[in-house]
Amino acid sequence: LDRAYGASQRQKRIKVLVNPFGGKGTAQKLYVREIEPIFAAARCEIDAERTKYRGHAVELVENLETAAFDVIACCSGDGVAHEVFNGLAKKKDAARALTQTAVVQLPCGSGNAMSLNLNGTDSPSLAALAVVKGLRTPLDLVSITQGDKRTISFLSQSVGIVAESDLGTEHLRWLGSARFTYGFLVRLIGKTLYPADIALHVEIDNKPGIREAYSHETSQAPPTHDPRVIPPPTDGLPSLKYGTVNDALPESWTLVPHDTLGNFYAGNMAYMSPDANFFPASLPSDGCLDLIRIAGDIPRLMAVKSLLAIEKGTFFDMPHVNYAKVSAYRIIPRNQAHGYISIDGERVPFEPFQAEVHRGLGTVLSR
Ligand code: ADP
Ligand code: MG
Repeated sequence: LDRAYGASQRQKRIKVLVNPFGGKGTAQKLYVREIEPIFAAARCEIDAERTKYRGHAVELVENLETAAFDVIACCSGDGVAHEVFNGLAKKKDAARALTQTAVVQLPCGSGNAMSLNLNGTDSPSLAALAVVKGLRTPLDLVSITQGDKRTISFLSQSVGIVAESDLGTEHLRWLGSARFTYGFLVRLIGKTLYPADIALHVEIDNKPGIREAYSHETSQAPPTHDPRVIPPPTDGLPSLKYGTVNDALPESWTLVPHDTLGNFYAGNMAYMSPDANFFPASLPSDGCLDLIRIAGDIPRLMAVKSLLAIEKGTFFDMPHVNYAKVSAYRIIPRNQAHGYISIDGERVPFEPFQAEVHRGLGTVLSR
């Protein structure tokens, strides 16, 4: 069952997962009014189900007979798509299931980056049309090891202000996607620093020299952390070329202190929100993550200018912004008492983690 760029498959068999909790809580209504009629008109075979709790989609998909479906469609934000990829990854024949089953998102949440990137819209009905017409396309997936766990990320990883603006604003769901902008502005004014030690497996770096800007003479030795080596379950998934976060650092990597880091943001797709083409050079299966590091000790006016520069496309030229394409990395945050790490918009413990890209391991539909 090869992935092709030819004609779109007709009458797709679609497993629909609706998250009644996503976004402003209107996913079920949006599904019935805007999405289902388009699937039905295209004579797709539909099997719809609601998610009942956080993590439910992982269980459902892990136990789903995936051969019976061409597509798993998430009427949700990016969170349920994240769970679906992880459900597929937990199957005994994970690599095969990830190749056979296309994962799509119909924008019914507050974070709808996947739909913006692949369906080209955050309108549920236009996204449904894009899914009907969509072509199977490989997508890079990323293994994240943290503690003794291995999980899959398909969209982004962030440490610092971006993660905080996403995760620290859960109580503002009623604002829709504006809660991210609000959260970002509030935190910008606080000039929060996120000191960390970072090792990258760099493919392309736009300003290799800028690394020094983050480190000062006063830099402390990186903390030693739990040396337990627990091999994560790898059944069906590709093995880890660079080991886990608990292994010794690969020989060719160097831990670089980032004392004044404000933001660490790695993305697998271009759009992170409707008005932020944050990673314009990212490609769905280039085997790379696009990584942005932003110094946190910059004047507030400069920080606000950076926000505007994202829209103007001049962001990468700013002196406090470093951009690189990486295929793997490790990040060890320093003040481990508090802080936010977001993986695809979901909160994980504020602890060291390592990421490694698996080129084209996942399958999506795109225009
Ligand atoms: P949003 O973009 O608004 O965050 P998501 O679809 O990403 O919307 O979902 C947010 C979270 O809701 C996900 O972590 C998901 O696991 C969780 N979730 C799914 N179904 C339910 C439910 N029935 N009740 C509560 N949480 C749920
Ligand atoms: Mg990529």
